[in-house]
Amino acid sequence: MVQAPDASAALEHPARPPGSSAGEFELIARHFRRPASRALLGVGDDCALLRAVPEQQWAVSTDMLVEGRHFLAGTDPRHLGHKALAVNLSDLAAMGAQPHSFLLALALPAADDAWLSAFSAGLFALAEAHDIELVGGDTTRGPLNLCLTVLGLVPPGMALRRDAARAGDDLWVSGVPGEARLALGHLRGEWTLGPDALEQVLPRLEQPTPRVALGLALRGLAHAAIDLSDGLLGDLAHVLRASGVGAEVLADALPGGRVLPTQPEARRRACQLAGGDDYELLFTAPRARRAEVQAAAAAAGVPVNLIGNVDGEPGLRLRDAAGRSIAADFPSFDHFAQP
Ligand code: ADP
Ligand code: MG
Repeated sequence: MVQAPDASAALEHPARPPGSSAGEFELIARHFRRPASRALLGVGDDCALLRAVPEQQWAVSTDMLVEGRHFLAGTDPRHLGHKALAVNLSDLAAMGAQPHSFLLALALPAADDAWLSAFSAGLFALAEAHDIELVGGDTTRGPLNLCLTVLGLVPPGMALRRDAARAGDDLWVSGVPGEARLALGHLRGEWTLGPDALEQVLPRLEQPTPRVALGLALRGLAHAAIDLSDGLLGDLAHVLRASGVGAEVLADALPGGRVLPTQPEARRRACQLAGGDDYELLFTAPRARRAEVQAAAAAAGVPVNLIGNVDGEPGLRLRDAAGRSIAADFPSFDHFAQP
């Protein structure tokens, strides 16, 4: 892409003889170019070339991570490489798509070799674990910003869409939502966690686990699914609205893990119900298939919990273990509603 002229922008179109010090193309070659295996043509040309896949649909998604907005300045670049890909893989998981390939658009304040090699190590470790191939991208100078685009494959009619929940479905969630928010609150100084608690929850924030195997196992079994990025109640509301249904959520059925139950109740509930950054799957499935959901989750190696049910009454009702209703007014994360 052609940029506005800027004499200080030495990263892209550097004003120095070819081959002097590491510039844009050397950085790409060193840190992001790997031999193409799945792509017909990978990093290096104007476009990547992918073989068309018969009898499959593409699931495509982009997610951007901006320093100071999605991660704190000074975050370990290896964790950042992991997280940038993890949040994108999580979108494929939520659609029941099989990861195929991805693109990486990167703005960097400086051509920092050590930072880039740690970042790419985190990125490629997760990419290899999920058999997804980096096929192209863009690299430019600017405030730190990571934008990935992922491509996945799903057989026609098998995608887990937000608009497919039905009255009578069970409501399920994977993992332990709320731990990432608990860690973030500590880093922001909103509260203080002891070293053991922090060690437990910090990886949930910095290195979330995309639930790809679970998404695949739920094909043909779950009705609707969404990944939790902005908070459980807010993300559930998207599903309910898109599907034209309502739901009852049993707040005390949410799994607490080891650390959340040690927290004051108001903080625990706020983290669990509106935390964000969990990258767990929230999904609905017919009540009659409860045992199959449990078996599919066990086969995928992911814990799931039944947290409520979908009904025909519009809106979202929240109850505690004693059946008392709890106000469901936890704000979900909205970039434009925040200061
Ligand atoms: P163009 O000018 O045609 O956009 P670029 O100079 O931006 O090409 O990129 C050169 C090649 O390097 C392209 O194949 C592009 O996909 C790839 N590329 C650029 N940045 C990255 C990156 N961060 N990760 C992977 N591939 C990249
Ligand atoms: Mg380019």
